Amino acid sequence: MTSFNWNNIFLNNYGTPTIELVEGEGIVVKDSQGNIYLDFLSGIAVNALGHAHPAVIDAVSKQIRKLSHTSNFYANEPAINLAEKLIAISSLDAKVFFCNSGAEANEAAIKLSRRTGKKNLIAANNSFHGRTMGSLSITGQLTKQQPFKPLLSDVQFIDINSRSGVRKIKIKTAAVFLESIQGEGGVIPCTNEFLKAVRAKTIKTKSLLVMDEVQTGLGRTGQWFGYENAGITPDVVTLAKALGGGLPMGAILVTGEAKELFEPGQHGSTFGGNPVVASAALATIDVIEKENLLENSLNMGELLIKLINQIEGVTEVRGRGLLLGVELTELAAKDVELECRKMGLLLNAVTEKTLRLAPALIINIEQVKRCSEIIDDAIKSLKKSGNKS
Ligand SMILES: *Cc1c(COP(=O)(O)O)cnc(C)c1O
Repeated sequence: MTSFNWNNIFLNNYGTPTIELVEGEGIVVKDSQGNIYLDFLSGIAVNALGHAHPAVIDAVSKQIRKLSHTSNFYANEPAINLAEKLIAISSLDAKVFFCNSGAEANEAAIKLSRRTGKKNLIAANNSFHGRTMGSLSITGQLTKQQPFKPLLSDVQFIDINSRSGVRKIKIKTAAVFLESIQGEGGVIPCTNEFLKAVRAKTIKTKSLLVMDEVQTGLGRTGQWFGYENAGITPDVVTLAKALGGGLPMGAILVTGEAKELFEPGQHGSTFGGNPVVASAALATIDVIEKENLLENSLNMGELLIKLINQIEGVTEVRGRGLLLGVELTELAAKDVELECRKMGLLLNAVTEKTLRLAPALIINIEQVKRCSEIIDDAIKSLKKSGNKS
C-alpha cells in the first residue's frame, strides 16, 4: 500500500480499504503488493469492457487532444453522437439530458416530475437511487435515510412484486421510480408481471414511470436496458455506471409528453455531456455492439448461474445476465468476499448473506469457470476452519 494513513486524509464515510489497485487489463487487476485478481465487480458494474480497453483509451486520447470541455453554452460532437446513439439503441422516441452520476440522473428525473404539476413520488422498499438529498429521499432503506432527515416529503414506498404496491399508485402520483433488478438491495429482480402492472397503472394515473437503469443498463442483463426483459416502455430511463465505460457519466432519456417538461434554465450541469467522457461512452457502446456483448452477457450469466448453483453452501443465484446475487446458506457474505479476495477474486458482499457478481461484459468461459471454482474453494476453506460467523 502506498504509505499514507487513510483515516487522516479521508472522511470516514467509506470505512478503510485494505488493498490499493494500481493497474488492470481486461478483467484482471493488480494491487500495489503485486497480487493479481479476477475482477468480478468491475468497480460496481462500471467497467463494462474491463480495464484499459484499447477502444476506450483510443477514443479518450484522441478527444482530449482535440477538445476536453466546452460547457453547455456550446454543442460538442461526441455528446451529439452519443445522444443519437442512446436514442437509437433504446428504440425510444426520446430526448436526452447528460449529467455525471446515477444520483444526478435520478435527481434530474425527480425535478422533471415536479414539472407535471404533481409532487407525490412512489419508490420501492429496499431500493437504491443515490445519495443526494433528492435521490436519497426515494431510496427505500431507513438506515441510509435516518441520519439525514428531513428529506423530501410526499414519498411513499411500496413492495416490489406486490398487487397492493400497484394499488398505491394514484392520480396524485407524479412519478414511480423502480430498478428492474434492485442492485444495492441484494440483486432482487422485479417480475415481468409486476413491471407490466405498474406500467398499465401509471398510464391510467398519468404518472411518469422512471426506470432506474443505472446499474442494470447498457447490456448488464443481456439487453441494453433491464426493463426490456418485461416488454414495457418507460417514460424516463436513468443511466450512469457503465455508461462512460469507466469514466463518470450519467444520463436521462425522456419520452412522450414528458420530453417538453423542462424549459430553458430549469436544469443543468457544467460537466454534463463532456466530450471526453461522451467519446468514451460512444466507444463502449460501439464495442458492445460489434462484439455481441449483450449475447455474451446473457450466455456467461447463464453459465455462472448453472455452475454456482452446484456449489454446496449456496441457496440460490438471482438476477440475469451479468448482475447476479449469490445467496449463501450459512456463511457471512463478508467472510466469503474476503476469502475470495485472498484467492484472487474480487466480488462484493452486497447484503449480509448475498454476494454480488457484476463482471465486465467481455468475460469468457474460462474466467467464469475460475470464478465459480474460487467461490467453491473459499466456502470450503471457511467451513473447514469452522468459520460460521
Ligand atoms: C449506483 C446506483 C445509483 C447511484 O449512482 P452514483 O453514480 O453512485 O450516484 C443510483 N441508482 C442505482 C440503481 C444504482 O445502482
